[in-house]
Amino acid sequence: PVTNTPDKLPKSSIPGVKRIIAVGSGKGGVGKSTVASNLAVALAKTGARVGLCDCDLYGPSIAHMFGTDERPYQNEEQQIVPIERYGLQLMSMGFLLEDDAPVIVRGPIATRYTQQFLRQCAWDHLDYLVLDLPPGTGDIQLTIVQTVALDGAVIVTTPQEVALIDARKAVSMFQKVNVPILGIIENMSYFLCPDNGKSYHIFGKGGGEHEAKRLQVPLLGQIPIEMSVREAGDEGHPIALEDVTESTASMAFLGIANQ
Ligand code: ADP
Repeated sequence: PVTNTPDKLPKSSIPGVKRIIAVGSGKGGVGKSTVASNLAVALAKTGARVGLCDCDLYGPSIAHMFGTDERPYQNEEQQIVPIERYGLQLMSMGFLLEDDAPVIVRGPIATRYTQQFLRQCAWDHLDYLVLDLPPGTGDIQLTIVQTVALDGAVIVTTPQEVALIDARKAVSMFQKVNVPILGIIENMSYFLCPDNGKSYHIFGKGGGEHEAKRLQVPLLGQIPIEMSVREAGDEGHPIALEDVTESTASMAFLGIANQ
């Protein structure tokens, strides 16, 4: 009999997808969606077929970062067909909602909706599906990591202690359900001043590296704070689409994707 412990629940794969990678963070605002978007773009740049799914019911941002207000349609099999942008297949829970519509969905309904949503998408032969999880380690996140057969998870944090404390919780959530931690991505690691070429460690130095060692997981990369990362996100054109010579951050994302 299937017992109700997290690692005993049956996990299901997603049709049309070879590998599923979750991007999580303990704390909000550390750049998880920015990292998920750019990682997806950088993976696509390596020649892989990539999809990106925004699983944040309460604050979806992928549509905005990819500059689209296109809505997916349902095919004859009643599946939702992801939209295409920059060669990637995109889905977002936000695509199914009207702008500014408040999402009043409580825990159990939200988790059921999330699961159903993930299985109903018509992904077209993906090598990688990147799941941008909501921040934190609540019910929705737990349901996703318990029921979707994830191949691995990456954790996004800043070097700041308050972010690291929450990142630890995210790591232990994945470990509890036997999802391999592919590594930690330290975002907003430093600011490279264009005027004097000096690096400034605005949120502290070495926090991600130290945490990765402590948890015995790889530090996959360090992304600098760059004005163009924020601008590109706001303009709907993730920075990783830029040539790596134009941006240190873009180069860092490609470095991570190549691992
Ligand atoms: P989260 O998904 O963790 O809530 P976001 O990805 O939405 O965080 O990022 C929060 C804000 O910080 C956004 O405005 C984004 O453009 C900005 N941002 C994220 N990473 C960087 C970075 N490396 N450099 C500059 N701005 C960044």
